[in-house]
Amino acid sequence: MSESRTEISSLGEFGLIEHLTRNIEIQNASTILGVGDDAAVIDHFGKQTVISTDLLIEGIHFDLMYTPLKHLGYKSVVVNLSDIYAMNATPTQITVSIGFSNRFSVEALSEFYEGIYAACEKYGVDLVGGDTSSSQKGFVISVTAVGEVTPGKYVRRNTAKKGDLLCCSGDLGAAYVGLLFLEREKQIYLEHPQVQPDLEGESYVIGRLLKPEARKDIVEFLEAQNIVPTSMMDISDGLSSEVLHICEQSELGCVLYEEKIPIAEEMRKAAFKFEIDPTACALSGGEDYELLFTMSQSDYEKIVLNEQISVIGYMTDAAEGVKINTKGGQVHPITAQGWNAFKK
Ligand code: ADP
Ligand code: MG
Repeated sequence: MSESRTEISSLGEFGLIEHLTRNIEIQNASTILGVGDDAAVIDHFGKQTVISTDLLIEGIHFDLMYTPLKHLGYKSVVVNLSDIYAMNATPTQITVSIGFSNRFSVEALSEFYEGIYAACEKYGVDLVGGDTSSSQKGFVISVTAVGEVTPGKYVRRNTAKKGDLLCCSGDLGAAYVGLLFLEREKQIYLEHPQVQPDLEGESYVIGRLLKPEARKDIVEFLEAQNIVPTSMMDISDGLSSEVLHICEQSELGCVLYEEKIPIAEEMRKAAFKFEIDPTACALSGGEDYELLFTMSQSDYEKIVLNEQISVIGYMTDAAEGVKINTKGGQVHPITAQGWNAFKK
């Protein structure tokens, strides 16, 4: 944190908006008009428009005791872009609305916007508007993301077919274990403020919580391979919850193989420190922001060499239920334990 503190009141609302948005450089031809008027104007030139919004509330979705504001800004954008990619679309614009108490200074909000702009640059999206308000207590953030897709090429959750392969990107469960570490250190700090936090060696799982990425690369890979997933969604509430969504909405069942669920070595070790099962973290954790999708078996050869994509099961008739085959050879029904890591 910088030493100086500028009160928001010294700039006023319009001064603050101008301060936070003065360096915007438009990156997309589809952004016809950005910040500065009553509304933004977007022209997707014959494409279809995809839109998604999220609300993040201090104390419910994030804890500023261990979330740096720059990371929070970055993550607020990324979680929205993840929803756009999950539709097989390309994000192009965002709006950001914030409410904050007088606890926040101009410097603090600037730090938050540094994270927002870092995400905008990385993913090639334009910040085209928002709203600014004071709040009685705490920090409230709402981000809306807009994207484009070739007409009819968006991918829904309800269109998986029997026999399709069930696939996911990256690795799962690490953000949840990262949250456990940060919550543990927070409790220790609250009881013994002189104790230094002990997060040595846990940078992978903590990074997965505080600085998630959206899987732009996977959507681009699938496109380059001429694969249109038969259904897709992002994994924000834990694998089991999302698998149930695809099955219920597609009116199918599935078989999932525990041994195929991608788990990072760092996460496995970290989970053992808490004496919890890494598979349970992947199934019921949250905040992974990986993609879950189904595709035709005939596309298998095209993805087999991509280490960022795991085939974790296949789709069956609804009557066969939603099942997991454990490493021990048992078969269990998958239940809805999907759990948003930040919901208290
Ligand atoms: P209005 O009175 O129509 O709500 P504002 O004065 O709130 O307009 O906003 C002026 C311009 O600044 C608009 O283009 C708006 O989208 C943009 N804006 C307002 N707040 C933010 C923010 N927190 N981040 C980015 N842009 C913002
Ligand atoms: Mg306004």
